[in-house]
Amino acid sequence: MSGKMIDTRVTIDGTFGPFDCRLDPRLCYTKPWFPLAETRKVAARTQYLAYKHGNSSTETIHVIEGRTDGPDSVHLIEGVPGRNGTPAVAVRIRWKGARPTATLGEATADARREVTRKATARRKAARSGRTGAPRAVVVHIDWCGLGEDFDEAAFVVEPSADGLYPVGAPEWRWDFASWWCPACQDSQPWHEVTCPCGLSRPATPLGAAGWNAGCALHCLTPEATSVLVDLDGSARIVDVHAGDTRIDMDRHAEPFGQAEEILRTALAEAKPGELAATGWERAPGRLWGRRYQITFPASRP
Ligand SMILES: [Zn+2]
Repeated sequence: MSGKMIDTRVTIDGTFGPFDCRLDPRLCYTKPWFPLAETRKVAARTQYLAYKHGNSSTETIHVIEGRTDGPDSVHLIEGVPGRNGTPAVAVRIRWKGARPTATLGEATADARREVTRKATARRKAARSGRTGAPRAVVVHIDWCGLGEDFDEAAFVVEPSADGLYPVGAPEWRWDFASWWCPACQDSQPWHEVTCPCGLSRPATPLGAAGWNAGCALHCLTPEATSVLVDLDGSARIVDVHAGDTRIDMDRHAEPFGQAEEILRTALAEAKPGELAATGWERAPGRLWGRRYQITFPASRP
């Protein structure tokens, strides 16, 4: 990895992600490198999609956690049950040493017995209070390709020297996540912090989601500059304002639902403490739950 890396966020088709990453923008295709915490999120998402749509349409990522002083272990990664039973891959890991070393193989009956045996050793090791530093092994599996070329279909994703994982095959169509400027209704890639109109996006993804929601509402009322949102339960827009004036809006209109959905998704994926850093203003002491005022620029004619 060179010094020309940038911090940004990427997604596939705008629906998978966005995830925080670093990447080299000079490459002709987008090759993101993810910190371990984001790699876990990517992994969970691929497994969810495989569960939902079946292995044939989804490659999956798996993060196996261990410790520097842990005993050697064997793991079974199982795919989604299909017509020919449940596909599985066996992962043997040596945790000690400069970095963990993992070997992938077919889940034979022997491997399965070994998994059970070593799981007991791992549980014992955990109970004995080992305190080695946490480490992880990241595995990529293309379930469709297992029968053809195992080594190409199932492999370990090796981290860079600074602990970032290049998750996703080159054919994964990673693209930059965008933010929308409510003033001009135009989008910018996440790392372009300033819109050509001069406005800079809010610093956090949750803050930017407030602007994206504002953009959606501008399809209905370009003069809107704030929303009052109730965060108890799932996020619900209570009121829309243009300056100090409350605007009557059609709550059944599609952009209204889109704005609420943008906020819900961002809240579900927000990092702990992110809400406090968004600049959303808590509505003063009311009997009803948590209400926040989210402000954004009005649309320019
Ligand atoms: Zn703008």
